[in-house]
Amino acid sequence: MPTDPFVNDLIAILGKERVLFEPEHLAVYGYDGTAAISGSTPCVVFPETTDEVVQIVKYAASQKRPIVTRGSGTGLSGGSIPVPGSLVVCLSRMNKILELDTQNLTILVEPGVTTVTVADTADSVGLLYPPDPGSMRISTIGGNVAENSGGLRGLKYGITRDYVMGLEVVLANGEVVFLGNKCVKDVAGYSMKDIFIGSEGTLGIITKILLKLVPKPQAKKTLLATYSRMDAAAETVSAIIAEKIIPCTLEFLDKITIRCVEEFAHIGLPLDAEAILLMETDGHPAVTEEEARKMEAVARRCGAVNVQVAQTAEEAVKLATARRAAFSALARVAPTTILEDATVPRSELAKMVNFIQSVGERYGLRIGTFGHMGDGNLHPTFLTDEKNTEEMHRVESAMREIFDYAIELGGTITGEHGVGLAKKSFLPKSVGDASLALMKQLKKTLDPDNILNPGKIFD
Ligand SMILES: Cc1cc2nc3c(=O)[nH]c(=O)nc-3n(C[C@H](O)[C@H](O)[C@H](O)COP(=O)(O)OP(=O)(O)OC[C@H]3O[C@@H](n4cnc5c(N)ncnc54)[C@H](O)[C@@H]3O)c2cc1C
Repeated sequence: MPTDPFVNDLIAILGKERVLFEPEHLAVYGYDGTAAISGSTPCVVFPETTDEVVQIVKYAASQKRPIVTRGSGTGLSGGSIPVPGSLVVCLSRMNKILELDTQNLTILVEPGVTTVTVADTADSVGLLYPPDPGSMRISTIGGNVAENSGGLRGLKYGITRDYVMGLEVVLANGEVVFLGNKCVKDVAGYSMKDIFIGSEGTLGIITKILLKLVPKPQAKKTLLATYSRMDAAAETVSAIIAEKIIPCTLEFLDKITIRCVEEFAHIGLPLDAEAILLMETDGHPAVTEEEARKMEAVARRCGAVNVQVAQTAEEAVKLATARRAAFSALARVAPTTILEDATVPRSELAKMVNFIQSVGERYGLRIGTFGHMGDGNLHPTFLTDEKNTEEMHRVESAMREIFDYAIELGGTITGEHGVGLAKKSFLPKSVGDASLALMKQLKKTLDPDNILNPGKIFD
């Protein structure tokens, strides 16, 4: 038995099999998907019901012990990394689909359900859950809501927030609230659920999620355009939207990423290209055919040297692999991969991409950039080695320049990965003093003892 009375009390609540306390079991919970940041915890618990979460929160609060909620730990800003002494509450066992309502087109789920399970369940009845983060096979829906995650379909369908109709939340004092309902319209009072979306586990623990689903599009067309100039790819994005086409996917890879993907996935990508653009349109078959034709024409007009249009579903999957494999392909080539998500208005994309390349050259760093070009959401990815202290200093300076420039262009320091630990030093400049003060006031009101995920987003 453990010697720590805190751990023993948690065992009394949940039973020994749902409490981890041995150092070799705890080590992995000191990390998430974020490079070069780690923490440690004395204990990890696995509740299975809201009532158990309530008991844990009340007990931890009575002991003034901080709590870090964890889904699958794929976060890229250190959100689920425990600050010293924190109890990790891992919700992976709260993984039931509670209701699929095909009349109201909603699904009610527990937070530990993986994103792909939500998508597959919707698909099984001809419906679509659109947010599709690259991590969707592993990430939990609770983590997606807590980070307000986006995905490849964000341009047309929006992000997680656009699909959350209701949330059950356990507050810092152990109270349970359900915010929202199945109504398409509801303006009764403040939209409280929205405060918890993207709150990174700092305001409450989300224990149930009511999501909106939409009819599944009947058809999809996939195209891959190759460019010898970065500007031409960015121009294509603007020109497609100016044609009044909103593709479901407009993803881009730069030359470093193209090379890494080709070495990894052998798709047949042109190694001399400066950029490629993956474009997808979905909807009625006749509309997708027409939009695909128009997108091909626009891409060629803007200077694409080649445009491949997938003729079969298999070909479409192959072309889309170029983008889906980007992060894994980059992660193979260096010991440490730092994936950032600077985001700018679409009109500023070309400037931002060129700036990232010039920063890489100036600091002597390898930075592969890919991302959701239609959303202005870029992923400059530093290929580095956290053991090389001198290089890590250069990475830090380069990163600061990139974020500063994104802000200068009217953008943000994070389009989808959140602030967590990794970006809190950049937050004041990004949102401004007044906005930061309001956030802190809200945190203080909902969590006066600073029990929930302390030290994340801001100190
Ligand atoms: C390969 C890869 C690709 C990725 N692609 C994308 C992408 O395309 N788009 C994107 O947006 N992100 C992406 N991510 C980032 C990450 O997957 C998302 O942020 C995801 O939503 C995290 O889910 P998780 O279950 O792993 O949460 P965790 O990492 O466990 O937690 C993330 C944050 O949410 C909080 N949290 C988790 N569950 C709850 C809950 N139930 N209640 C309250 N707070 C909670 C945690 O405290 C933490 O602050 C990617 C990550 C990887 C590794």
